[in-house]
Amino acid sequence: MLTHRQAIKELLKEQPLSLRELSQQLSLSEKEVLEHLGHIARAPGPGYRFQITPAVCQHCGFVFKKRDRLRTPSRCPLCRHQSISRPRFALLKQGG
Ligand SMILES: [Zn+2]
Repeated sequence: MLTHRQAIKELLKEQPLSLRELSQQLSLSEKEVLEHLGHIARAPGPGYRFQITPAVCQHCGFVFKKRDRLRTPSRCPLCRHQSISRPRFALLKQGG
């Protein structure tokens, strides 16, 4: 029986997923997933690194690179639009 955190890790080793996708697949609230992600980001496990595909403004293309928060930003700082793609998370094998 996997813990929720282990289950999230296994999913992220297979493919990049957003907060919403993880919460739907595991029937957890996004808040719970976010908490686990915070731990996984700091301790991805031996041989793995935590990768964030940053959120992007779908209106002007602004990339939220410097943002280390895991949540989806609510609005673009440049054009103020709210159509922001969700960041995705993955666990990648190091040196692979
Ligand atoms: Zn924008």
